[in-house]
Amino acid sequence: MSSQYPSGSFVRPPGTDPTRRRPRLSFELLGCAWNGHVLVGTDAATVSQDDALVVRDLDGDRRLHRCLRCDAWLMLPTPAEPARQRPADRDEIVLPTRGRPLKSRYVLRLIALTRVFNVLVLLLVLGGAIAVLVNQSTLRDDLLANAASLQIVMGGQAVGQLQGLLSGGAGPLWFIAAGLLVLVLLEGTEGVGLWRATRWGEYLSFVLTTLLLVPEALELTSSTSPGTIIGMVVNVGVVLYLLFSKRLFGVRGGAATVAAEREHDISWAALRRHLPDAAAPTRV
Ligand SMILES: [Zn+2]
Repeated sequence: MSSQYPSGSFVRPPGTDPTRRRPRLSFELLGCAWNGHVLVGTDAATVSQDDALVVRDLDGDRRLHRCLRCDAWLMLPTPAEPARQRPADRDEIVLPTRGRPLKSRYVLRLIALTRVFNVLVLLLVLGGAIAVLVNQSTLRDDLLANAASLQIVMGGQAVGQLQGLLSGGAGPLWFIAAGLLVLVLLEGTEGVGLWRATRWGEYLSFVLTTLLLVPEALELTSSTSPGTIIGMVVNVGVVLYLLFSKRLFGVRGGAATVAAEREHDISWAALRRHLPDAAAPTRV
């Protein structure tokens, strides 16, 4: 079969590589499993040779439709009640994200999910701070009444700090609550930007994560708990990924190279590269 398709530029569709020692995740297949295939001309009365890159008539009753994301060819019956005469023109079709941009989108969404987790934790802490603010005088009285037993559980220093915080008026607590709210808004905005794979989201994430590395590095000087070290390693990885893989600040060609990569993987030319020469239509 391979001798029938000798094209040197042919790129195998996802999931069709020969048996590999290490399995490779095909993000296109993942996307189609979740969102369904992206097909053209399923509602068209007629298809022609001009559409052969994406849909082909078999025998009048059946057609082969090519998924624009995963390149699978799917056999479907010719529509009994077509909604249009011809498949959509190419300039009407929005090509789905695929290739490296799709892989990148999944990585960014993974980072975005960690930001969602951060927002949830921050909201819990913010709720706690507001609850303390609302019940400050009651808590101060309770703390004074139970100071001796709390010192056994929490230690004298922690109880002393708590007493200082509750006795110092509402100012410091409001300051902490306001700071937490700003963090929630920043982390939330970062998560939305990353989830939607926007350039501003990548820059915002780079700046915030880099700033976060400062207190984490300071914490490492006093604590080497596994949680601190893992958090530091993950955030360093995020910063390096954004800087080098997403080519921020002009690194490795910057935005122009990102755009060129996108054009290389998400274009009609890319769809053409995933067809063997013998199967390729004359019109690209
Ligand atoms: Zn598909």
